Parts: sequence; structure tokens; C-alpha cells
Amino acid sequence: MIMEPNSGRAFPVAPQDAPYETKINSYGEVIGQRLSAYLAPTLKETPAEAEVASHKLMIRAGLIRKLAAGVYSYLPMGLRSLRKVERIIRAEMNRYKAREVLLPAVQPAELWKESGRWEKYGPELLRFKDRHDRDCVIGPTHEEVITDIVRREIRSFRDLPLNLYQIQTKFRDEIRPRFGLMRGREFIMKDAYSFDADEASADVSYRDMYQAYVNIFHNCGLNFAVVEADSGAIGGSYSHEFMVLADTGEDALAFCESCSYAANLEKAELRDYPVFQAAETELTKVRTPGCRHVPQLAAFLKTEEAGIIKSMLFMADDVSPVLVLIPGDRAISLVKLKNFLDGAAPALASPEVAEKIMGVPMGFVTPVGAKVRIVADEGVKRMNAGVVGAGEADYHYTGAKPGRDFDVDAYADLAEVKEADPCPRCGKPLHVRRGIEVGHVFKLGLKYSKAMGALFAKPDGTEAPVVMGCYGIGVGRTVAASIEQNHDSDGIIWPMALAPFHVALLPLQLQNEAVAQATERLYDQLASLGVETLLDDRNERPGLKFKDADLLGLPLRVAVSEKSLAKGQVELKDRRSREVTMLDLETAASALADMVKNSLSG
Ligand code: ATP
Ligand code: MG
Repeated sequence: MIMEPNSGRAFPVAPQDAPYETKINSYGEVIGQRLSAYLAPTLKETPAEAEVASHKLMIRAGLIRKLAAGVYSYLPMGLRSLRKVERIIRAEMNRYKAREVLLPAVQPAELWKESGRWEKYGPELLRFKDRHDRDCVIGPTHEEVITDIVRREIRSFRDLPLNLYQIQTKFRDEIRPRFGLMRGREFIMKDAYSFDADEASADVSYRDMYQAYVNIFHNCGLNFAVVEADSGAIGGSYSHEFMVLADTGEDALAFCESCSYAANLEKAELRDYPVFQAAETELTKVRTPGCRHVPQLAAFLKTEEAGIIKSMLFMADDVSPVLVLIPGDRAISLVKLKNFLDGAAPALASPEVAEKIMGVPMGFVTPVGAKVRIVADEGVKRMNAGVVGAGEADYHYTGAKPGRDFDVDAYADLAEVKEADPCPRCGKPLHVRRGIEVGHVFKLGLKYSKAMGALFAKPDGTEAPVVMGCYGIGVGRTVAASIEQNHDSDGIIWPMALAPFHVALLPLQLQNEAVAQATERLYDQLASLGVETLLDDRNERPGLKFKDADLLGLPLRVAVSEKSLAKGQVELKDRRSREVTMLDLETAASALADMVKNSLSG
């Protein structure tokens, strides 16, 4: 029982309307909020640690606050946008027959030992012991937990297909948390997992999730691309990433405007790109004092960087040396190399290790007569000859011909695509852009179901492991990506779908009775029409209200002033176009409701 302070009497128990003026809809959601009674602390200054626009603006507009590196609190306004993304996600997941669950953040290590990831997952996995000395983790992802549920609850082919999803907090102890919600350590993810009886059915589940994701990011108002992503040793194009195009993105993608090819740069295929042809093809040893690096060497020999064949020593899984050859103007894709090595992680050998294995300082390492395994990019095969190290400090060979002067154990596509390289599908020039990975769909196959024994009975009575897929969306990252794409020098420009509120209502002279009355009436009308409104009822100068409104970036700003009211009007400013129009006070609410509706359905 709740006691009334100092009275000895209980509070009334009959339900009542709260005497406060927050507008609530029939689902209990806030649709009208007075700024004076809110928590939306705006900052004039840009926080020093914020590097990208979205991070700066989320802090300045009072959407989030940092608690620790990569760990943020969501303030009311920021949370409203997150919830909008979640609502859009839920609608599409439910439409595509995924079922919502909520799984624990704390997970026993046993499950991770069963899947093999207790050993495999790096320091991003936060491990701890409970009071009984049992190993636990905080889930960075939930394949283990969901597979455990399915192996217990699913018996027969009749229970399949099944798709389960959740919207939940993850923890990954990222080495470099940065850009606010973009790369946090604690972050909210939507993760879904599909379970099917066979490959064909799993492909349908994959296609459904792919379509759901297209719908989701479209409904969030984002400009995005779907790219083929690395699916590791599993192979095939069974992984796609959803990339929001932005110059500050941590990922790069290659795409073709002629056909629809698009891939993450780390896996984008490179075929038949033009290579350098040397004038001299006779093997000649030349002195190249101190020329350890390609640009130095090219300048010294007065040749192009593309005329040099770089020899780099990699260690696969820290143990097996591999000498990798690639044209001097090209970068190696570590993902392609890793896949070529059947999943063994390659790392460039340190100068000490390289010198120990190759017997010569780095920069002069040679493939000629080398005793280690040699893998070369396909471009090297098409060079008639090139410059390579001579296996002796301060010397190189010119005119070294692959196959004639040195042996190559295998050729593979190892080079990273560059702007204007030929598209692997149609040959037209590719474009390279930066992007933010907001979503990822992945066909897992039998990896977890086999390791953890998630079996079902087939119609003939025999048992088989279920075929799985997994599908993730970064909820906070999606909000950050939207701001990255929608802002100007004054602040955020929310798309209607993600805006914390639709309308910013600004009474400019609160002490004026007519202004106060007209504002209150409009506020009531907007709430009853379901238009989410933030009423700036603070006793502040109009200039400050306008500045904050621009910073918060709600799509429609309505100013109520003595001057406009004299003509029976209020002033509407569109945050994106900055266009100002006058609305008749009498019909303003319904006009605004129509604008919101049109913009949400458009
Ligand atoms: P990244 O390559 O950016 O580290 P990932 O490929 O490891 O991400 P997934 O395991 O595919 O991420 O997770 C699904 C989604 O979760 C990602 O597409 C991304 O939107 C989001 N996400 C992943 N890591 C983070 C993070 N540290 N902070 C915020 N969102 C994240
Ligand atoms: Mg990913």
C-alpha cells in the first residue's frame, strides 16, 4: 500500500487522469510533450571526443550521454528514435513470420564450448565468473542460446520452418569503440535466426529476410545499398550486407552502375584488370640502395609502381609462412587471402620474423629460388616481367618473369578492387564508396546445428540437423547512420519515420494571452490527431528556440506569434527544405496531420 506522506492515510485507489499535461495515446505512448518538463539537454559546443557528425549531433541535441568507452545512456529524445527503428523492424519481422523472443544477456560458457566459439572468439567476448566460479559470457550474439532452445523444443519436420527474433542488448569488447552509437561496446541489436528442414527451404527464409531488410531500411528513409559480403569458408554469395552510403563509413563497397553487382570491398571480385607490361624482360640484377618500399623503388628505377611485383611474407595462423606476390600498385585483400588459406588467419610477418625465414631484410625478399610456399595474385600471371627483390640487401632484379625466373605454387584473386576497375560481371568500370553496415544477413548452414546437435525427424523417420540462417540489424547504428546522412551545419534533419516527434511547436511570446491560448489549442488538436508534438513552452527568447529546433531537427516547425495570429495564421517551416509557409490557424492541425501521414506513407 502506498502511504500519503505525513498523513497516515493511503493514496486514493480509484484511477484518475494524471494532472500533468503529457499527451498519451491509447497505447500509453507519449504523443505530446512539454519541453519544460522533459530531459533534452542541448549543448552549444561540439564535444571534443566526437569525430563524426552523427556522434557530435547526438550529444549536442541531448539524445545520448556517454557513461564509459563505447557505453551510452539513451536520453528520452534519443530513445524515441531508437524505438521508432524498433517498431519499423518489428512490423517487417512479424510480416515475414519471424516470432519475437527475448533471450538472456548472460550466458553459460558451456554453450560456447559446445559450439567451439569459447576458444575461437577473441577478446571481444566478455567473459567472467559468477560466485560459484562458473565461466559465463555476456552475449555478443545469440546463435548458441537460440540453437539450445531449438534443439530442446523442435522435434519434427512439422515444426519447421521457424524464425525467431529478438531486440536485445549485446556486448562486444570492441578494440576501438568510436563514433558514438556507430561502434559501441554495449549496443542494441535485432537478431533473427531461421531454422529449416532443407537447403531449398532455407533459401526461401533467407530471401524473406533479405526482403524484410530492404523494406525496413526503405521505411527508415535511408539511402542504402545491398552488397555481397564475405561468407568466410562457407563460400557462395550467401551473405549480404546492408550499407548506408556515407563518407564517414568504416566499410568500403564496390558497385557497378551498369549491372547490379555490388560487394563489400574486402570480397569484391577482380577479374582481368589491366597490368603493366615491361619493356625489358631479361633478368638483370641491379643495385637499389635503401629501396625497401615500392614508391622509393619505382622512383629510383624510373618505372611505374605497377611494374614492381611486391613480395610480402605472411604467417597463416601464426605458424605457416606464405610469400604473397602482388602488383606494386595494388593492395592485398586480407579477406580474400584468408579464404584462399581455407580460413587460416593471415598476418604480415614482422621484419624480424621475415628476415629470419627469408634470410634477407624486408624489401629485398625474393621469390627467385624461395623455399616457402608462393601464392600470387592473378594479375602477376599476366605481367610479362617485373621488378622483384634479389634476396640480397640493396639489390633487386628487373625483368623477372613468373614461371621462368621463379615458381608460383598457386594464383588467386587476392587484390583489392580500386575505383574504375572492371566489374566482374559486365566489365564496365566499378565505383568504390564508403558505407556503414547497418544490417547483415547470413546463411549459416549446419555449423551450429551440427556442433550442438539441433536435430529434427524427417518424414521417413531419420534425423537430420536443421539448416540455419542468422540476420542482424544494429538499432543504434541505424539511428546514427540516418543522422550521418541527414544533417546540415545547424543540426539534425530527421526523416519523418525516425523523428523523435513530428512537430516542434514554438510559441514565441508565451506571456501573450492569445499566443498561449492558440498554442494550447493547437497542441490539443495535434495530440488528438496523433501528431507527435514537442511543445517548446520554455520561457526563452525566440532566437534560442529556433536554434534548438534546428539542432533537434524535427521535420515540421510551427511558430505561433502575435504577428501571425493577427492574420489568423501560424508559420510553418520545413526543416529539410527550409521553406516557410503560413497555415490558417483553424485548419493548421489537420493540415499538419496530413503532411505527417503523407510523408510516412511516401
Ligand atoms: P562490424 O563489421 O561493423 O564490426 P559485424 O559484422 O561484426 O559488424 P554482425 O555480427 O554482422 O556485425 O552484427 C549485426 C549488426 O549489428 C551489424 O550489421 C551492425 O549493424 C550491428 N553492430 C555490430 N557491431 C556493432 C557495434 N560495435 N556497435 C553498434 N552496432 C554494431
Ligand atoms: Mg556483419
